[in-house]
Amino acid sequence: MVKDQRFLIDCGEGTQRQILRSGIGFKRLNRVLLTHGHLDHILGLAGLLSTLMRWESLPELEIWGGTWTLDRVQDLLHTVMLRGAPPPMPLHLIDLKPGVLMEDRDYTVSAFPVQHRGRDNYGFAFVEKSRRPFLVERAEALGVPPGPERARLVRGEAVRLADGRVIEPDQVLGPDVPGARLVHIGDIGVLDDTVREVVRGAHTLVIEGTYLDVDAEMAEAFGHMTIGRAARFASEMGVETVLITHVSRRYRERDMIREAEQYHPRAIVVRDFDRFVIAKGRPAHKVSAGPQPAEDEDRPELYGQERRLVELD
Ligand SMILES: [Zn+2]
Ligand SMILES: [Zn+2]
Repeated sequence: MVKDQRFLIDCGEGTQRQILRSGIGFKRLNRVLLTHGHLDHILGLAGLLSTLMRWESLPELEIWGGTWTLDRVQDLLHTVMLRGAPPPMPLHLIDLKPGVLMEDRDYTVSAFPVQHRGRDNYGFAFVEKSRRPFLVERAEALGVPPGPERARLVRGEAVRLADGRVIEPDQVLGPDVPGARLVHIGDIGVLDDTVREVVRGAHTLVIEGTYLDVDAEMAEAFGHMTIGRAARFASEMGVETVLITHVSRRYRERDMIREAEQYHPRAIVVRDFDRFVIAKGRPAHKVSAGPQPAEDEDRPELYGQERRLVELD
């Protein structure tokens, strides 16, 4: 959620059920950004659409993704699910290209290419625009009264006071303070220059960590990150907080946390239903925590088996 806008990034199987369980609701959930077209990132769109059809009235639904991703989404929704029937609401599949996707007064959302298996993989950057703080003490000293004059100065307009003096915005605005930057990367195997440039100095990075370092070879073979590598990358890039997602149930949570924290003091292995607030001036913080996942010790069959089942291509 950015201001009053909501974005759903990727829609794995069961997403609509998890949204129901979380209590966050479907209102205004009309924008889906897809990092890529692997099934574990798009299969939930069918369930989401069918829930929206039955229970919610959304004026429209936008699904943003690369060309290959959208081809698959088109098949999934129009051929498999709707079988040629018209969608219940205008359904816009928007072919995204690297660059700014949307912009409003306070922030921009842009896409950048990332390398994973297959084509058309993207990461997203949510960037709050920089702002010049209003220096109240200066305004007081200059005799600018509280009210509309101050609002105009904040907007960058000069004002004429009752006594005839003209006050310029530069007299009451401080230097530019950059806004928070949240970078969200889905599956990724190669940390290239494009990615480094976007991630460097980010307030918060969301990135996958499908494996532990002990399975680094497998991570490499499947175009994925290890948790250790993700955390090291975040440290190297000076990222304040790194949220690690897409973790595998084959590992124990405490092992994943240990590996993450070993390389970055603010590396957090994310659980379903965790909620974070990201705002400039303080680190990302968890406002509510999801339930602890069942420990895999009860399910020893997960070790050794299922090792190839990283995700559904
Ligand atoms: Zn993938
Ligand atoms: Zn995946």
